[in-house]
Amino acid sequence: MTLLDAVVVGSGPNGLAAAVTLARAGLGVRVLEAQPTIGGGARTVAIPELADGMLFDLCSAVHPMAWASPFFRSFDLSARGVELVAPDVAYAHPLDGGRAGIAFRDLARTADRLGPDGDAWGDLLGPLTAHWRQVTALALGDKRTVHGMAEGVPGSGGHTLPVRALASMVGPGLHFGSALLEQGGPRWDRRFLTDEAKALLTGVAAHNITPLPSLGGAGTALLLAALAHADGGWAIPVGGSQAIVNAMVRDLEAHGGTVETGRRVESWSDLPPARAVFFDTTPSTLLRIAGDRVRLRRRAALRRFQYGNAAAKVDFVLDGPVPWQVPDVGRASTVHVGGTRAELVAAEDSVSHGLHADHPVVLVSDPSVADPSRLSGPVRPLWTYAHVPAGSTQDVTEAVTRQIERFAPGFRDVVVGSRCIPAAQMERHNENYPGGDISAGAATMWQMVARPTLAPDPYQVAEGLYLCSASTPPGPGVHGMGGWHAARRALLREFDVRSLPDLRP
Ligand SMILES: Cc1cc2nc3c(=O)[nH]c(=O)nc-3n(C[C@H](O)[C@H](O)[C@H](O)COP(=O)(O)OP(=O)(O)OC[C@H]3O[C@@H](n4cnc5c(N)ncnc54)[C@H](O)[C@@H]3O)c2cc1C
Repeated sequence: MTLLDAVVVGSGPNGLAAAVTLARAGLGVRVLEAQPTIGGGARTVAIPELADGMLFDLCSAVHPMAWASPFFRSFDLSARGVELVAPDVAYAHPLDGGRAGIAFRDLARTADRLGPDGDAWGDLLGPLTAHWRQVTALALGDKRTVHGMAEGVPGSGGHTLPVRALASMVGPGLHFGSALLEQGGPRWDRRFLTDEAKALLTGVAAHNITPLPSLGGAGTALLLAALAHADGGWAIPVGGSQAIVNAMVRDLEAHGGTVETGRRVESWSDLPPARAVFFDTTPSTLLRIAGDRVRLRRRAALRRFQYGNAAAKVDFVLDGPVPWQVPDVGRASTVHVGGTRAELVAAEDSVSHGLHADHPVVLVSDPSVADPSRLSGPVRPLWTYAHVPAGSTQDVTEAVTRQIERFAPGFRDVVVGSRCIPAAQMERHNENYPGGDISAGAATMWQMVARPTLAPDPYQVAEGLYLCSASTPPGPGVHGMGGWHAARRALLREFDVRSLPDLRP
């Protein structure tokens, strides 16, 4: 049997980012994917029992990081024909009484709408938006090395110390750090006066599914809120998330790589001989398959990796738009549903205690707002998920419907079909989400940094053996950075490739 250079287990965006980078360096790469189709958390699928010919995003739907991450900026999705469309409202947060926080793409317009909190919003996010490259580098960096923390910032290429890049990161870094401490701790209520501004930022912080306020949630909120006002906004790929991973596979195949679907790797003997193996999986899966190749101490540390709380997905089919009480809410690519900051805190607190919240945090996206090709006449898919405790078996369709109906009276009347995937069943279509943990590991501040362990190299777990999934820095999201960081280390260590491959089309 011929010896491959690299095998990648899993075809999520991180696995494919690793595969593309390695293939671009001239190596022989094979990707093995357990599921029948490629893409992991970026798949778009038909659900014939729900609607004939309609496509649904199985996991991720909204993609600020698909234009902003250093990997994707180098890979350049739009030059490959992937259209990332961002509506002029990035995200919205409806409240009782016909009120709503609206995050326009335009920061000044957002501030204007927030009235008395406009200046405070601008002061918090303006500097981060203006320096989004630096902020993105910090947030999506490898959390270990100078080079890995300055990726994509002008002046960061090459092997010498990226002095110019680092110098340009000091100011934004200090602002990010102080904003993180403010919004991630007890002082978070001091900045804003209105329910609208408080809820608008907290809805984004809640993405981490951790108790609030938290440093991890604040980090996510500041990055994503800044990107909402930056160049590409909260983008939706035309045709669905699948367009992103399809472009990656096209590039991989054009450079000699191959992908095999329906190939679940259960043990080391399922792997073809290769000089290096990359796991786009959780640490638990890696240990199950290759644990005996990992040193005892590292193995013990990987076993301590914590999984987090969960999401239960509900896909709806609607025969008209969601009748949001505040019409601007219906122009957003994402709507955070859950009420005021205090209600969001209470809901996440319940989940962190293993309880289902009476009024859960719900994320909602109608892709046709940005991409009319997702419509079938007036009929459209509606992507939603609710935060629930890890391992929840509950069908949350009614809870999600109630939450949306609260801010969009008449919602029930436009629903023509729905399907729930309870958290406990998430693993069936992607074993990287144990118990429904869509972050592939709790997104606490500690685990956003010490992911999957505190080791100086979070990716190489043994010689020729790498973890490259969302369980490594920088964590969850469709950004490809875990795969890229891992592949770049392996190029140097396993293959003595010193110059980094060009990823441009
Ligand atoms: C409901 C939901 C909504 C989300 N929304 C967003 C969003 O809007 N925007 C965003 O940026 N992110 C979102 N995310 C997160 C994002 O999808 C993930 O963080 C991202 O896909 C992680 O990429 P990855 O490559 O690390 O792993 P994944 O995309 O999870 O891919 C891992 C792949 O490995 C395969 N695999 C695992 N074990 C094996 C094995 N033993 N053998 C073979 N193959 C294996 C899996 O089948 C899977 O295809 C969402 C996730 C979920 C579940």
